[in-house]
Amino acid sequence: MAEFDYYLAQFVDIHGRPKAKLVPGKHKETIFGAGAGFAGFAIAGMGMGPHGREFMAVGDRDSIRPVSWMTSTASVTCDGHVGGKPHAFDSRVIAKKALADFREVTGLEFFTGLEPEFFLLKPGATAGSWVVATESESLDKPCYDFRHLSSVSDFLMELCAALGSAGIDVYQIDHEDANGQFEMNFTYADGLRTADNLTYFKMASQAIARKHGLLCSFMPKPFAERSGSGLHMHMSAGRQFGDNAFEDESDPRGMGLSQMAYHFLGGLVAHAPGLTAIAAPCVNSYRRLVSRGSRSGATWAPINIAWGDNNRTAFVRIPGGRLELRVPDASANPYLLTAAIVHAGLDGIQRKLNPGPPCNENLYQLSLAELAARGIKRLPASLPDALDALEADQTLCEGLGADFVAAFTEIKRAECDELLLMVPPAEFRRYVDFF
Ligand code: GLU
Ligand code: MG
Ligand code: MG
Repeated sequence: MAEFDYYLAQFVDIHGRPKAKLVPGKHKETIFGAGAGFAGFAIAGMGMGPHGREFMAVGDRDSIRPVSWMTSTASVTCDGHVGGKPHAFDSRVIAKKALADFREVTGLEFFTGLEPEFFLLKPGATAGSWVVATESESLDKPCYDFRHLSSVSDFLMELCAALGSAGIDVYQIDHEDANGQFEMNFTYADGLRTADNLTYFKMASQAIARKHGLLCSFMPKPFAERSGSGLHMHMSAGRQFGDNAFEDESDPRGMGLSQMAYHFLGGLVAHAPGLTAIAAPCVNSYRRLVSRGSRSGATWAPINIAWGDNNRTAFVRIPGGRLELRVPDASANPYLLTAAIVHAGLDGIQRKLNPGPPCNENLYQLSLAELAARGIKRLPASLPDALDALEADQTLCEGLGADFVAAFTEIKRAECDELLLMVPPAEFRRYVDFF
């Protein structure tokens, strides 16, 4: 790797937001030694007080990659250390521990692919407002629309090139189901690398959008009448990249899944309510997890704990030989998401959990009675409900660390309170003269 003038010692906070210090090239080696020092109290969710020890970001040498939108700069993905040891509140440390557990139990690597969806916005007529950046807001079925895709192709291609220069291999870009919404897909990798890649993707997409006078928004549901932005996670396991122990062509159910994959799925189903707090972690996330209200006819987001063969209305879809978890949205911290998924799935493998029967119907159209008859339960309908479920989930609390989960739920409950203390205009109109 060529030398660069600057290195970004980079990690994420509890929300998955990238944090960094810029280190001039001649001091580069400090990142790999003691690390770059930060005040831990200034970083959300590190569990540190104002007089705590330094939070040290210690670089992973395998993660050096160019940052093409900054002059002669490379990023170095770091693990958080405190007192010379990996810090139990650091997201990447939490993910590494989960992946090591998976390796220890199964002897395999855990692989993920993340599918980021996002809105591309431009400033609206009034200060502080944002409207979709594509040429028209009025299409009813905008999915895969060519005009919208071509109208922002300069941004998309610059982003694709930046990712390519960092070794992130984009293989498809499309206009998604809502006006101004896009998805960019890149090749899957081991769980840690994919979380690193997604973080880099967020850094690149937001910086390059700004250069174009745009905002790349990962808010899960910015517009009431349109689909929200998901962050679907594809999962498999194997001895190495390309090998897939979740696949078995002789699957009697015809879904191409191995017994191990069914047990992993059983774990995802069993821990679905608690997982949702990590996968859909903001108040706005729960406006996405609805079945109706999108102008294009479907939201494509899950509301029930059901799984099925290529069923895009389900919590888990089976595209064949792997699992796609559909509940995560783009506000999820990819490291915590990976860790939580692994702990849930491993519990399924260890206890040989059965995921129950598949559901291959349109889940949006089943009545409450039909759902009950099939034993299908609802996902948490709000962040407070999901946080209750996370706190009650011993596997997830132990896996992620009880102190960390306490810090996570405290921060998230404060976020709920902050927003519940407000009365949105639509709610005022709905009730002001209703009773
Ligand atoms: N945007 C949808 C969601 O909120 C997903 C659409 C798709 O299936 O790609 O999850
Ligand atoms: Mg999509
Ligand atoms: Mg998908």
